[in-house]
Amino acid sequence: MNIVGHYINGKVSEAAERTQDVFNPATGEVARQVAIAAKETVEEAIAVAQAAFPAWRRTPPAKRARIIFRFKHLLEENADKICAMIGEEHGKISHDAMGELIRGIENVEYACGGANLLKGEHSRNVGPDIDSWSEMQPLGVVAGITPFNFPAMVPLWMFPLAIVCGNTFVLKPSERDPSVSLFLAQLMQEAGLPDGVLNVVQGDKVAVDTLLTDPRVQAVSFVGSTPIAEYVYTTASAHGKRCQALGGAKNHAIIMPDADMDNAVAALTGAAFGSSGERCMALSVAVCVGDEAADALVGKMTESMQNLKVGAYTDSSNDFGPVITEAHMNKVNGYIASAAEQGATIVVDGRNPKVEGYDNGFFVGGTLIDNVRPGMTCYEEEIFGPVLLVVRAESMDEAMQMINDHEYGNGTCIFTRDGEAARYFSDNILVGMVGINTPLPVPVAYHSFGGWKRSLFGCLGTYGPDGVRFYTNRKTITQRWPSSGVREGAQFSFPSN
Ligand code: NAD
Repeated sequence: MNIVGHYINGKVSEAAERTQDVFNPATGEVARQVAIAAKETVEEAIAVAQAAFPAWRRTPPAKRARIIFRFKHLLEENADKICAMIGEEHGKISHDAMGELIRGIENVEYACGGANLLKGEHSRNVGPDIDSWSEMQPLGVVAGITPFNFPAMVPLWMFPLAIVCGNTFVLKPSERDPSVSLFLAQLMQEAGLPDGVLNVVQGDKVAVDTLLTDPRVQAVSFVGSTPIAEYVYTTASAHGKRCQALGGAKNHAIIMPDADMDNAVAALTGAAFGSSGERCMALSVAVCVGDEAADALVGKMTESMQNLKVGAYTDSSNDFGPVITEAHMNKVNGYIASAAEQGATIVVDGRNPKVEGYDNGFFVGGTLIDNVRPGMTCYEEEIFGPVLLVVRAESMDEAMQMINDHEYGNGTCIFTRDGEAARYFSDNILVGMVGINTPLPVPVAYHSFGGWKRSLFGCLGTYGPDGVRFYTNRKTITQRWPSSGVREGAQFSFPSN
C-alpha cells in the first residue's frame, strides 16, 4: 500500500516512526498509509527551512511573487486532480471541493501582489532633515498546522502569503487527509520555488510539539479545534513565538419574523448540511424570533430536507458526503441521541442513512432538531456534522444574548428585511464575521478571516492584510545625514518637534 510521505528540501521522504491508516470515508476502507514523523524528521525540516531563509529573504519580492503566480496556474491546471484527492480522503463532493479550491486560489492571487503588499510606509521630514520609514521584514521559519476539513484551502491561506513575504515554511497538515498538502508542495517546486523554502511534515502531536518548542521556528499559524488551538497558542507563546490559533465554532443564524423565509431556508439548508456540516463556518443553530417564525422555518426546512442527497464524492449530484471517520460519525450520532434525552425534538433524524453501495461509509444524513435550549450538550458543543438546531427566542435581544453568551464567536448571520435591525445586530454582536441575509460570511481573500472569543487565540486573523502583518516584522528606520548642516550637540531632553 502506498505511503504519503513528507516533503523536505525538495524531495519526498517516507521517513517514519510509524505509519497510520488514511481512510476513504465513503467506503470505510483504508485508502493508503501516512508516514508519521519522528521528532528528528521535523527537526530536519526546520533545519532545511532555516538554511533556505537567508537566500529567500534576499530574493526580490517581485521574483517571489512570480513563482506564486506560476503556482496559481498549476493549481488551475490540476484542479480536477486536487478535487479527486480531496474527495477520496475527505469525502467532499467535487462541486464542494472545487469551491474550496477556488477560495484557496483567491488567497494565492492575493499573495501574487506580494511586492505591493510589502511596500511599507515612508515619511519625509519627520524632524529637521530627518526621514523615517517602516519596512515589513520576514520572520524566518514559520510553521503551519492545519485541520482535516479544508485540506487544500487552509494550507493555501497560509504558505503562499508567508512565502511571498520572504519566510520559509514547514507545513504539518492533518494526518487524516494528507495527500493534498504533499501535492501542493510539489506544485510549488514545479512553479520554481527553491528547495527548502516549503517543507511538509506529516505527523501527529509529536510533530506539532516539535514545531511549537523548537527555537528556530519564529511563528505558528494553527487552524483546528478549540482545545488544540488553546494548547498550541499557550505552548507556542510560552516558547517565545508569535502565534495565531483559529479554533472551533457554533455559528448561529437569527431568523426574524419579517425574514424572507424561502431565502432563509435555502441559505440554511446549504450552510448547515454542505460538506456534512464539517465547516468552521457551518450554520449549526437557527434562533427563531417568535413561534410563528420557528414553526414556518421548521415546516419549510423539513420539506426542503426531503431532497437532500447524501452519498459518495464520485457522484457529483450528491449534496454532501460522509463525515471524516467512523469515530466522528458515532460522536455526531451521540449528540443527536443526547438532544432527544435532554428534551429537544428530533424533527428529521439523519442517523444511519441508507447509501446504496456504500454500506460501510461514515454517513450521517441531514438532521433537524427543534426546541433546543442553551445548556443542552448539543447546543453548547460544536457537533461538526450535518445537524441543524432550532432554538426559539421571544425577542431579538434574547436571541443576540444567546450568541453573545456562547463561548464561540466565529461567524453569525441575521435574516431580516429590516435594515435597522440588521445594523443593530452587526454593531452589537460579539462575533468576528457577520452576514446579513448571507449564510456563510467567509471574508474574501483581500479582507481577513478571524473569529472572536474562543474561536481565535491571538490578535491577528488569517490571510489578507492581517496575514501580511502576521508574517512580517515591522522595522522602523529613522535617518539623518549630519552633512546636511544640522549638527547638534548632545541633547538630553526627549527629542520632539
Ligand atoms: P484538530 O484540532 O483535531 O486538528 C488540527 C491539527 O492539530 C491537525 O493537524 C492535528 O494533527 C493536530 N492535533 C490534533 N490533536 C493534537 C494534539 N493533541 N496535540 C497537538 N496537535 C494536535 O481539528 P480537526 O478535527 O482536524 O478539524 C476540525 C476543527 O477545526 C473544528 O473544530 C473546526 O471548527 C476547526 N476549524 C476552524 C477553522 C477556523 O478558521 N476557525 C477552520 C477550519 C476548521
